[in-house]
Amino acid sequence: MTSGPTTIFTTMTALAEATGAINLGQGFPDFDGPPALLDAAAAALRGGQNQYAPLAGVGALLEAIAAHQERRYGLRFDPSSEIQVTFGATEALAAALLALVERGDEVAMLDPSYDSYGAGVALAGGRAVPIVLEPPEWRLEAAALDAAITPRTRLIIVNSPHNPTGRVLDRAELELLAAACRKHDLIALTDEVYEHLIYEGEHIPLATLPGMAERTITVSGIGKTHSVTGWKIGWACGPAELITRVRAVKQYLSFAGGTPLQHASAAALRFPDSVAGELASALRDKRDRLAAGLRSAGFEVFASAGTYFLNADVSPLGEEDAAALCARLPHEAGVAAIPTSAFAADPAGATRSLVRFAFCKRDAVLAEAIERLLAWASGGT
Ligand code: PMP
Ligand code: GLN
Repeated sequence: MTSGPTTIFTTMTALAEATGAINLGQGFPDFDGPPALLDAAAAALRGGQNQYAPLAGVGALLEAIAAHQERRYGLRFDPSSEIQVTFGATEALAAALLALVERGDEVAMLDPSYDSYGAGVALAGGRAVPIVLEPPEWRLEAAALDAAITPRTRLIIVNSPHNPTGRVLDRAELELLAAACRKHDLIALTDEVYEHLIYEGEHIPLATLPGMAERTITVSGIGKTHSVTGWKIGWACGPAELITRVRAVKQYLSFAGGTPLQHASAAALRFPDSVAGELASALRDKRDRLAAGLRSAGFEVFASAGTYFLNADVSPLGEEDAAALCARLPHEAGVAAIPTSAFAADPAGATRSLVRFAFCKRDAVLAEAIERLLAWASGGT
């Protein structure tokens, strides 16, 4: 397991609550999703949609996911055999890893990476192998990819837009990944939960590259796109043969749940693109506000093209160990954040002095956090 018994997100949110710190750690918005989405959920709840969903997912949601994938990316999935609804993207990822990774298999993944990948690989008895991305660019380099692939590699996990770095992989990087998958006959498991939270560049699903649709499981969910992270409605799309295996595991993890929220998510996937577009443009503005505030407090801020997150180097402030700093910061500054090293295979490596801040917060909350960090950095707390 990667992060010990309690994840860094739980630890830091508890610390923020205990100290009254502003929580720029765990990635969740402090504002609600679109009213039409909440209305759709309430209507489903009041309309008697409160019993088990079918194992694959509510029919309307399966249809809406298929329509979304085709409309946005030209990817065609058969709703009855090529899509599985899950309890968040997390369950889709876990079920895919448990279904496809055998004891001793290696799973290559971008490093740093979201913590549930390493944990899922460990649960399946596999071994996580990092494909190291170097700050501040965090570009996928061919040499790092080659170094991570061995005859035991079974699967590659690709996350773009990428947590924790905010990178959006470009076509050249995706082509490197696709070429490796084709050459070594690997399955790709993609985590695209931030697909609509993009501020620079464009989201290109790996499954759209030549030869990839037949070997890719594409995972996403409703939580980030519409600011309802507590709903935990996710999905996996892919060839029937792979989705059948994911489904076989998923039925014993949770069977089927969230029926009214599945109905509401179906409605949300049919919202005009402007709804998610407005959220992305608000988040872009929040990213810029927080970046400017952190810069004036003396942090070195790295670019972020997507997600809820940006990274900052604390060494200009005379701090080398961001994990130690993040443990002190709620007490000293009244702000909580996550050390980027919590996502890295080697916490003593290039992420050691980096902090990940979440900017998906109301403007007044960001302004207060910036004020607190400015006061802290100038020694005035
Ligand atoms: N993948 C990434 C990259 C994430 O940041 C998160 C955070 N929530 C998840 C998956 C989990 O998604 P869900 O809440 O839908 O399980
Ligand atoms: N995805 C969220 C983050 O990266 C955390 C979700 C969780 O708490 N597991 O902050």
